[in-house]
Amino acid sequence: MLDYHLHLWPHGQRDTDPTLDQVSAYCDQAAAHGVTEIALTEHLFRFRQADHLLRGFWDDEPNAALRASMEVYWDDHARADLDRYVGCVQAAKDAGLPVVLGLEVDYYRGRMDDVATLLAGYPFDVLLGSVHWIGTWRFDDLDDPASMDEWSARDVDDAWSDYVTAIEELAASGTCDVLAHPDLVKVAGHRPATPEECWDRLVEAAVSSGMAAELSSAGWRKPAAEPYPSPPLLRRFARHGVPLTTASDAHRLADVADRSAELARLLAAVEVDTLRAFRGRRPHDVPCHAGADLP
Ligand SMILES: [Zn+2]
Ligand SMILES: [Zn+2]
Repeated sequence: MLDYHLHLWPHGQRDTDPTLDQVSAYCDQAAAHGVTEIALTEHLFRFRQADHLLRGFWDDEPNAALRASMEVYWDDHARADLDRYVGCVQAAKDAGLPVVLGLEVDYYRGRMDDVATLLAGYPFDVLLGSVHWIGTWRFDDLDDPASMDEWSARDVDDAWSDYVTAIEELAASGTCDVLAHPDLVKVAGHRPATPEECWDRLVEAAVSSGMAAELSSAGWRKPAAEPYPSPPLLRRFARHGVPLTTASDAHRLADVADRSAELARLLAAVEVDTLRAFRGRRPHDVPCHAGADLP
């Protein structure tokens, strides 16, 4: 198994200097749960080097509460140094730890060429593509009242469709390798009566772009109370031959490789026996097995 989606810091934490000891502890925790390789994938928006490219994408937002919320959120996060992060993960790789260098890249409409140019200057192994906000609305920020209030102001079907449109645009941009938490829009527990059309569009976005899709245990830790993607969407990805990664999306050591054995069982149920791994953004497949020590 893989854990190809890991963060070094909780969202509220401002101490953002990565250490080799921290990466080593992540690898140990992963190995204890049958995970043979991890990818560190910190958010692009946590790094000062991206600030000038991305800051102000919320300026056109007509909702003042959402605009203000995003500005505060941004200033809370854009504090880490990308060179130090890359250097730390490189040092871990050089020390022989089973880790690859990644990043979680959000979708910024109209700015992805600039993002790609910035990232091309670093030796990333894998780039996750994510949609965490629709326009300026952080639909997945469960701790932000302004963002959660918006769920009652919007139509759930429209929210899902707008989310999928952003995923389609992100996939078409060709910037990233893996669709992270593909149906994240369900995070707060809001679902359309008939999600099948959105599921089909998500599968088509992956197929047409050649991106892999991530099977993540993080949804079990949220009100959605199920993995990303949901089992019917996972089945669709598998049926269309979309390569898969597995992930915990941990923001702390205790969640690294969370429920990897359950993810392995979900993969077995849809007859997937290989996972997609990456080196230097080139894909290769690895066998999918949970590890002999797991129940
Ligand atoms: Zn994410
Ligand atoms: Zn993440």
